[in-house]
Amino acid sequence: MSTQETKLKIRVFGDPALRKKAKPVQSITENHRNILSQMATLMYDASGVGLAAPQVAIHESMIVVDIGSGLYKLINPKVIKFEGRQELEEGCLSVPGVCLKIKRAIKIKVRALDEFGKPVSMDAGGLLACCLQHEIDHLKGKLIVDYASFFDKLKIRKRLRELKEKSRINEAQEKVCKLRL
Ligand code: ZN
Repeated sequence: MSTQETKLKIRVFGDPALRKKAKPVQSITENHRNILSQMATLMYDASGVGLAAPQVAIHESMIVVDIGSGLYKLINPKVIKFEGRQELEEGCLSVPGVCLKIKRAIKIKVRALDEFGKPVSMDAGGLLACCLQHEIDHLKGKLIVDYASFFDKLKIRKRLRELKEKSRINEAQEKVCKLRL
């Protein structure tokens, strides 16, 4: 099996791949670096600012994030400190057309490995902290819709059904949210 030749594709709400938990990467290989670089390309092509491996049906703990200040490729990321609160409107490349206000920590500390296995420790705030928490949620099979309030759920119900049934999706709706992860 070679992932090098496999074209990765962003999975959409309803795909069971999005609910499967990612396993920690035990030993980093060329294959992982290859997947990370394909993930970054997919993220940029979709005008997104983050992407997690389960979104491309790879169940290993890997994410890419770029909010405009440089690309991070992180393996086995873990939030080890949460501080404060912020509420931003988030969209998700796997739930196109849905935008939800989500409360998250405003400052976090993340430990991870870079693509060559070197330990990384990151202090992130604001938008970057939000994106990292969103991507790390994906590794646990968690999606933005899981944060939806009762009223949000009513609001997005129709859209989620469209995505699930893969009925004709209004593409214009796909970019409604500025923050797409
Ligand atoms: Zn997402």
